[in-house]
Amino acid sequence: MLRIIFGSYFVVTLIVTCVQLAAEYRHTKSDIDNELMAMDLTFGASLASSTWRFQGDVQKATLKGISNLPVVTGVKIEDPQGRLVLAQGNIFDSQGRQIHVDADGAPSPVAVDFLNAAIGHRFPILYRDEHDLSHDIGSWTVYSSRHVVIQKVAYGFMLILINSIIKTLVLWFIFLYVFQRWLGAPITQLSSFVREQDLNRLDAPPSIVLPGKKRHELHFLADAINAMLASLSRHMAQNRLLYRELEQEKESLRALNKSLELRIAERTLDLEQANRQLKLLSLTDALTGISNRRCFDQALEREWRRCARNGKPLTVALFDVDWFKHYNDHYGHVAGDEVLRRVAETLQHTVGRAGDTVARYGGEEFALIAADTDAQAGLGVVHRMRDAVFSLHIAHALSHFGRITISVGVASCVPSQQDGDVNTLLQAADAALYRAKTGGRNQVLVAEWPLPASLEKAGDAA
Ligand code: GH3
Ligand code: MG
Ligand code: MG
Repeated sequence: MLRIIFGSYFVVTLIVTCVQLAAEYRHTKSDIDNELMAMDLTFGASLASSTWRFQGDVQKATLKGISNLPVVTGVKIEDPQGRLVLAQGNIFDSQGRQIHVDADGAPSPVAVDFLNAAIGHRFPILYRDEHDLSHDIGSWTVYSSRHVVIQKVAYGFMLILINSIIKTLVLWFIFLYVFQRWLGAPITQLSSFVREQDLNRLDAPPSIVLPGKKRHELHFLADAINAMLASLSRHMAQNRLLYRELEQEKESLRALNKSLELRIAERTLDLEQANRQLKLLSLTDALTGISNRRCFDQALEREWRRCARNGKPLTVALFDVDWFKHYNDHYGHVAGDEVLRRVAETLQHTVGRAGDTVARYGGEEFALIAADTDAQAGLGVVHRMRDAVFSLHIAHALSHFGRITISVGVASCVPSQQDGDVNTLLQAADAALYRAKTGGRNQVLVAEWPLPASLEKAGDAA
């Protein structure tokens, strides 16, 4: 900044000095012109007289005297025809060339430059005789040069220059002192204070106090910075408080969210368990605890499709407790229920494979689905089941066998090779069961497959 100020000041000073110098030059040149003009009054008469009388020595002495004047660089006398008569110093000859004529009158050429370029004034030499008649007897010319003008100006210029330099230096030092004392030091202090501030550590905001009794704009700026820091500190404290509260809220929300998630997970687990339970209940027979009719129907559809896809055989068996109505009538319904439970349990346990389904088909009837099982293998399983029930030795006074027995109808097919569906298969098993009943009970009979029309009708009738 100082460089700009003083640079500008220096340029202005330089321009002003140049203008002053030009004015001084013009003024001095004009003075010299006047001085040269005035010379005709001083020397004109003497030259006219000496020329009229042909007094060469007087002319020479006069020219020497003139040429010795400080402002004169040359002087010459010419006759009325313009021929050079006498000269001294730097002059222009008749051809307009600048020459130097020494004290002996010997001419020599002059190399003309800007400084020694001549300025001349020509005066006529007029002689007035005793009859007051005027005679033009020639002319004389006096010369000066720019060098003379500049020599005269140089002194004034030196004064101007020294004056300007002194003024500039004094101003420079005053300005530097004032700037450093009142502006530079406080500005440096302010800028380093602002730079040192850490916005994250404004708990107790520091303040800056500038030295000096007389307050100026920089003191007001320091006050404004102090006020701004105090306000920032307050806002930062509020923000920190808000941030802490927000963090606490977030934490409690997170905790709440976690407990909610836990509770939802627990509830989901409970629901899943309840659903499983419900599903189990919906597929379980309440009295016996084995699969119910719905479960049986679904399993049969499923296994039929699977065996149809895989080209495997499927065997179905229907079991019916013999003379069970009589049992109920004789032993009571509760005892009847207990029999159903034991028969169900026995049938379930006798089935070897986990994939086989034993279900309560309805009333005192049970059913078996044995997938991937042909009639031969199915028959073996069913015989073991009938034998197992027989082996329970549950007394039945009104049965021909004296104990609880079951009759079984078995039907088997390969679904992929069959026209019919699950109902056809069940119908066949039912027909076989019917035959087992009519054939004496406590026995296992295999359905004829496909069903003979007569048996189909018999099955329908049953
Ligand atoms: P059959 O040898 O021809 O099968 O003779 P049955 O008496 O067993 O056949 P019927 O169809 O005439 O009688 C079935 C009986 O089964 C009738 C019913 O009282 C009894 N019953 C059906 N469901 C239950 C039950 O849940 N509990 C008890 N205790 N008895 C049942
Ligand atoms: Mg029955
Ligand atoms: Mg029965």
